[in-house]
Amino acid sequence: MVTLPQSMSAIGVPFDSDAAVLAAASTDFGHLIQGQSDLVVQPRQIEDVVALLQTANDHRFPITLRGKGCSQNGQSVSPGGVTLDTSRLDHISYSEALPNQVTCGAGTTWRQVVAALKSHHRIPCIMPLNLNLTVGGTLSAGGFGANSHRYGPAIANVIALEVVTGSGEQLWCSPHKHPEIYEAVLGGQGRCAVIVSATLALRPIKSQVRTYYLVYEDLSAWMQDQIQLCDRTDYLEGFCAASIQGLQKTPQGRRPLVQWLWGLHVSLEFDSDHPPQQDRVLAGLHHHKLLHIEDDATTDYAARYDLRFQSMQTSGAWQQLHPWFDCLLPLETAADIIPEILEILPPCFGDGHRVLLVANRPTPRFLMKPQPAFLFAILPTGIPTSLKAQALTALDQIHDLVIQAGGKRYLSGWLGSISADFWPQHFDGHWQDWQQVKQSLDPNHILCSKLFP
Ligand SMILES: Cc1cc2nc3c(=O)[nH]c(=O)nc-3n(C[C@H](O)[C@H](O)[C@H](O)COP(=O)(O)OP(=O)(O)OC[C@H]3O[C@@H](n4cnc5c(N)ncnc54)[C@H](O)[C@@H]3O)c2cc1C
Repeated sequence: MVTLPQSMSAIGVPFDSDAAVLAAASTDFGHLIQGQSDLVVQPRQIEDVVALLQTANDHRFPITLRGKGCSQNGQSVSPGGVTLDTSRLDHISYSEALPNQVTCGAGTTWRQVVAALKSHHRIPCIMPLNLNLTVGGTLSAGGFGANSHRYGPAIANVIALEVVTGSGEQLWCSPHKHPEIYEAVLGGQGRCAVIVSATLALRPIKSQVRTYYLVYEDLSAWMQDQIQLCDRTDYLEGFCAASIQGLQKTPQGRRPLVQWLWGLHVSLEFDSDHPPQQDRVLAGLHHHKLLHIEDDATTDYAARYDLRFQSMQTSGAWQQLHPWFDCLLPLETAADIIPEILEILPPCFGDGHRVLLVANRPTPRFLMKPQPAFLFAILPTGIPTSLKAQALTALDQIHDLVIQAGGKRYLSGWLGSISADFWPQHFDGHWQDWQQVKQSLDPNHILCSKLFP
């Protein structure tokens, strides 16, 4: 347990040392990593963050940054020290004079941003599927969504950031002002600076979204069609759906005989006087079947996964283990590697696997990815503890396959056994810069987590 200085109360930043709050901050959505948060601090304004970081530097106590704790490998879990919970940094500022940008506090959720912009008919260029994530937590990871085929990750759509560095210095950074800090913080896993607020790029929206639910029998056709659709659809989401045809004998015993089907949601925004023309949208595609067509208000479409997340909570799955595995695969190898991955996965992973095409956009350098790429995500609703060893062994095997195929891990999820060469391999030619930037912005090593102790 870290001895916290008396000055913690003197600096006047709200904090919580209730046992239940500390216990919650000592793990994350993955429920696989156990840390120890000794105090949860909830700054309300930038002055609180500066005071906290300066006190931490004076007394050398560690701080871990945390949004909603939805990462899964200890990224937001304290290894023993103070948790800086960003939830009270939730201001939103929008002006009609600059209609295509919004500035919001790091602890603002995407749901709050969508609600605040609704009457202005604007939305952030890119948002995650879970609107309950914080802006700061998402920008520290990367942030992929159903229109990443157009805009890339969320961090490629940030105009400026207000940060407090690990050494306690407050500043604004952007691609033109302190670009090295801007690049270090976006996708930077909270290791160098606290994002206090972010100015996000917005885009105008049409009032409705029409979604075509397609199903494919052929994986290559499914992937080729995603590439073909890039320029003519607003949102694009691929799904791997298992159709179980009995239990077949294998050298490892009986296993489900799975016929995989490949789903694709093709969605376009429209105003009611100009609905999409189906012939044009689906021209030249190779789907097996058009299953369904659905219309939604655009802001409701953004929240379409709420039901999935709510039912995970009511069923108890939210409390189970979540070794979610996300990776970015080169377009050339994805069609070969995805069936191999699915073959390895034990049945407990279910079939909630997703594929999102990610555009070739200039992206802050510490988000490592092939250009362009498919994001492939294994997202089980929950793994029971009794199957933990089996599940994690399979994911270690899949990690190796992904790396051999020229893929990169998306660092928000479960990363598995982290060997000595994991980080140098992950960051390739950027490995030294990744270490140096930490040293220059956080020389006393105040900002840390279970993933980066
Ligand atoms: C149900 C669910 C759905 C998801 N959907 C998506 C999705 O659609 N797209 C996607 O890309 N990801 C998705 N994720 C993964 C998610 O983006 C990342 O885990 C994200 O980082 C979590 O946001 P958070 O607010 O919970 O951050 P946390 O998990 O609390 O923190 C994540 C990282 O950010 C750092 N951090 C937090 N706040 C700050 C700050 N203010 N300044 C600097 N660093 C900070 C933390 O230290 C940590 O390293 C999903 C996760 C879940 C559980």
